[in-house]
Amino acid sequence: MSAPAQLRLFEPLTQAPPPRIGPAAVCSRPKSKVLQPGRGALASMDYSLNPYIGCSFGCSYCFAASFVADEEKKAAWGTWVEVKENALDELARADLKNKTIFMSSSTDPYQPLEMQTGLTRSIVEFLSTPFRQPRLTVQTRSPIVARDLDVFALYDRVRINMSITTDSEEVRKRFEPKCASIDRRFEALEQAVAKGIPVAVCICPMLPIENPAAFARRIAALKPRAVPLCYFHASDRPFSSTTRPEALALAKEMGWTEQEYGRTKTEMKSELARYGIGGGGFS
Ligand code: SF4
Repeated sequence: MSAPAQLRLFEPLTQAPPPRIGPAAVCSRPKSKVLQPGRGALASMDYSLNPYIGCSFGCSYCFAASFVADEEKKAAWGTWVEVKENALDELARADLKNKTIFMSSSTDPYQPLEMQTGLTRSIVEFLSTPFRQPRLTVQTRSPIVARDLDVFALYDRVRINMSITTDSEEVRKRFEPKCASIDRRFEALEQAVAKGIPVAVCICPMLPIENPAAFARRIAALKPRAVPLCYFHASDRPFSSTTRPEALALAKEMGWTEQEYGRTKTEMKSELARYGIGGGGFS
């Protein structure tokens, strides 16, 4: 299968300088696979699916940066993205019917350049065909996901996980300044819920929360299937998942300790439980 008409084609990595979309230099990675067997925290899934390498959101805590082998690119995380333009060729060869797929584990499938490339949309459209349909979990921090609700409505089993890491715009702007506002993320989930599409809210990593009980009630109003919570994960093992040092420094500056996280988590879980909502996992 050839690339769909709406897919914007980029130059391969060998062509320099690459074009920029927003904060990111963008190039093509035509031979890179989109599917990887589920492992680690995603061991219960058949596959993770990553349409892009890199992510222009560049969150200060992003663990995905720790898997980048090139030290220069790792340090420049958030300023480059590689587009897997041959994704549909690979997916056309795979038998994904009823398989469990997590999209995405090391990039955001709805980062801003998706509005130009249409790559993620082409993937979810392709997989929505009844004889191909997997059980799809979409993981994002972006309200752009709401653009594709018409496609998700075609799926028998789909869930949108939205990461909302704090209730404070001030905190969000410090840790994840290139991501959409908290309100826009809630609005996208409200649109999904209105269409009958299941959602989850991922507070991972949890950042300082101004009003844990009120935040829990706002989340509970969505009737999410799950609300996973977690703290930063710092590791000095090479190629292991670890929080970026920028976030750890910010957390220290703001007095956001593991003890504070534990206290806030207990308060939020207790409030969520009043609405019959347990923690739950990512998938
Ligand atoms: S949106 Fe996700 S993949 Fe992108 S930088 Fe933030 S944490 Fe990393």
